[in-house]
Amino acid sequence: MANLKDKITKLETSFFEELKSSSTIEQIEEVRVKFLSRKGLVQDIMAEIKNFSVEEKREWGPKLNKFKTDLEESFEKQKEKIQKQILKQEISKKQNFDVSSTKINVSQGNLHVLTKLTQQIENIFLSMGFKPVYGPEVETDFYNFEALNIAKDHPARDMQDTFWLNTPEMLLRTHTSSVQIRTMEKSNLPLAVVATGRVFRNEATDASHDYMFNQLEGLYIDKNVSMANLFGTIKTFLSALFDGKEISIRVRPSFFPFVEPGAEIDMTCPFCENGCSVCKKTKWIEILGAGLVHPNVLKSVGIDPNKYSGFAFGMGATRLAMLKYGIKDIRLLHSGKIDFLKQF
Ligand SMILES: [Zn+2]
Repeated sequence: MANLKDKITKLETSFFEELKSSSTIEQIEEVRVKFLSRKGLVQDIMAEIKNFSVEEKREWGPKLNKFKTDLEESFEKQKEKIQKQILKQEISKKQNFDVSSTKINVSQGNLHVLTKLTQQIENIFLSMGFKPVYGPEVETDFYNFEALNIAKDHPARDMQDTFWLNTPEMLLRTHTSSVQIRTMEKSNLPLAVVATGRVFRNEATDASHDYMFNQLEGLYIDKNVSMANLFGTIKTFLSALFDGKEISIRVRPSFFPFVEPGAEIDMTCPFCENGCSVCKKTKWIEILGAGLVHPNVLKSVGIDPNKYSGFAFGMGATRLAMLKYGIKDIRLLHSGKIDFLKQF
């Protein structure tokens, strides 16, 4: 029995030594496995009881049980102590963290004002049955001029107005009307499309002129299309663009080589009742050029002008953006200035 007593004392000593030197959950778990698990050292001693006599069992049984329970209690106390320490460290870490010292600014980007406006314009026309179409910015003389009934000696071909490329007959498109031709060539009739995109003019820049701006072009070809269809479409579009405001239009005769008759359309100023700086006190704003598609243009893409007619209109999408949002300088639009762009 003295042998067993010795064993218990030694075991107890090494258990408490190892328990006290544990300071992490991992270390104390090792102590548990070594001493208190089913295959641990305490269980080994407990197992010895089976060789004891009945008398000895009666004496040592309760003692060994108490020994085991005491160790388990000490273990739990130490475990709790470690857990509290860890928690305390975590809390103090958080308390020492100064939330005001670092401010992380997550600034979200936004779509360019012209992209937003283009999407709005396309949605309005989609609701009227027009399909958005696109074409290349580098064009040929044929699509940009010839097919649009623009004669070789027309001033629009002047070197001052057009960016010609080094390759003969190639240029940067001066209007989105070229997309009309490309669309008519490959589409079945009737046809209703709206083309938006960048166009280029070789001219001096100032607050209201730029070498690059966005245009918006519409085309509708069917049997018996008249100016009345054009006016109705434009009025509906402008009212929707200016948030449902009732817009009136007035029409002045004008000349564009690719339409006959041709017209300039003005709209009532959506910003005032009796004149303001936008409409220069006139209550009217010049907004677009339009007309019935010239028979020569229809012929150039193989459409019989005796069977079909159509209207076309073109306006500056950039100018619309400037009007709608009160932008004073056209050059801001591709300046890349963040302060300007994030307003929209
Ligand atoms: Zn006005």
